[in-house]
Amino acid sequence: MLKLENITAGYGKIPVIKDINLEFEKGRITTIIGPNGSGKSTLLKAIVDLCEVWQGAIYLKGKSRELIGQKEFAKQVSYLPQIHTGGAITVGRMVLHGRFPYLSYPRHYRREDYECCTRAMERTGILSLRDKKVEELSGGQRQKVYLAMALAGETELFLFDEPTTYLDINYQLELLQIIEQLKGQGKTIITVLHDLDFALRISDTIIVMKQGLIAKAGTPEEVLKSGIIDEIFKIKVKSFLDNEGMKHFYYEQKDQVENTSFLTGNLKST
Ligand code: ADP
Repeated sequence: MLKLENITAGYGKIPVIKDINLEFEKGRITTIIGPNGSGKSTLLKAIVDLCEVWQGAIYLKGKSRELIGQKEFAKQVSYLPQIHTGGAITVGRMVLHGRFPYLSYPRHYRREDYECCTRAMERTGILSLRDKKVEELSGGQRQKVYLAMALAGETELFLFDEPTTYLDINYQLELLQIIEQLKGQGKTIITVLHDLDFALRISDTIIVMKQGLIAKAGTPEEVLKSGIIDEIFKIKVKSFLDNEGMKHFYYEQKDQVENTSFLTGNLKST
């Protein structure tokens, strides 16, 4: 579905991600994890041309991004950024921005554009906010507006950068459901997540980044087994089986065993 070949990218003259080779399969959820500053956001930005890419090529369904062209690429790939600016624009208008790639100039929204936006606002629970100004919303509400904008594009590939930021716990779980539903519709999802529990719970593939490089890519089981999470986050991941045979994970801060946190991934034991 999406292939990154020898991508080196960054800002100014400084490379942040180096010589990255990755392939993302259709209908899969891939989660990128790694410490702050390891280049997770930059990797997503490189895919949508929001940072400088000095080397390499990006292919969508076998065709290079340059050949596809910006507008056509945007019809197939939506990107949910980490930082959400406000503005005097209403929620309804903002979500309509997700339909931009489908419009010709001058921009006239069609009935189907409004319908896609209504569906996206319903799915993210913000339909009642449609006439509110984005700048008047809370961080979590704004997060949902941006998510709705991404969903409104009804693209095949979704890139989410920290989609759970600002969301309360209930809505974080709702978001995971949205991601899993997208997968159920055959969509491809690449997401950056800080929460290891969520990452282990929903991903087909986990990519671990360290200092701009891919430290490990594989299934959650493979990544856990490799010990790379322990090494990179300076924690100790442990697991146990519950009565129903479900594998749960918890982790301890290295050298501080009393500070135990629980991870409840739902990987079935094999
Ligand atoms: P992560 O998402 O893993 O936290 P980022 O990709 O955001 O990491 O950042 C990686 C590095 O790139 C950091 O050192 C950060 O300071 C730098 N960086 C990120 N965005 C910019 C930018 N717009 N301009 C210059 N440097 C940036």
